[in-house]
Amino acid sequence: MENCLFCKIAEGTIPSKKVYEDEQVLAFYDINEQAPVHVLLIPKKHIESVMEVEREDDALICHLVHVAQKLALQLGLSENGFRLVLNTGAYGGQTVMHMHIHILGGRYMSWPPG
Ligand code: 5GP
Ligand code: ZN
Repeated sequence: MENCLFCKIAEGTIPSKKVYEDEQVLAFYDINEQAPVHVLLIPKKHIESVMEVEREDDALICHLVHVAQKLALQLGLSENGFRLVLNTGAYGGQTVMHMHIHILGGRYMSWPPG
């Protein structure tokens, strides 16, 4: 999708600090980290938000969860725990309209979120 920041990061036209990449997904460090470990995991396919996920995306969404699990192990987060966040829409705090999973870890996460 033209003029989409995360599509450009997925294509490599905007650089990122990559953590993991395969044909379907990309993980890279958030530029403004909110925890000792803060990685963004995105589908390469442009999906605006959770609200635009379709049944044909089932395998992709399942793959994202498996990659999140793999990254939690790789980044040393699995023992103490971590948080996956999918901000959606204005009230959800979504600022980039290309669906992304925040993987946050390395410190205790409070609840409820702000
Ligand atoms: P949202 O607020 O939509 O849930 O999350 C968007 C995230 O993208 C924010 O945490 C923000 O710091 C991150 N971000 C915005 N622009 C860039 C960028 O150019 N590179 C990287 N690596 N992260 C970005
Ligand atoms: Zn996009």
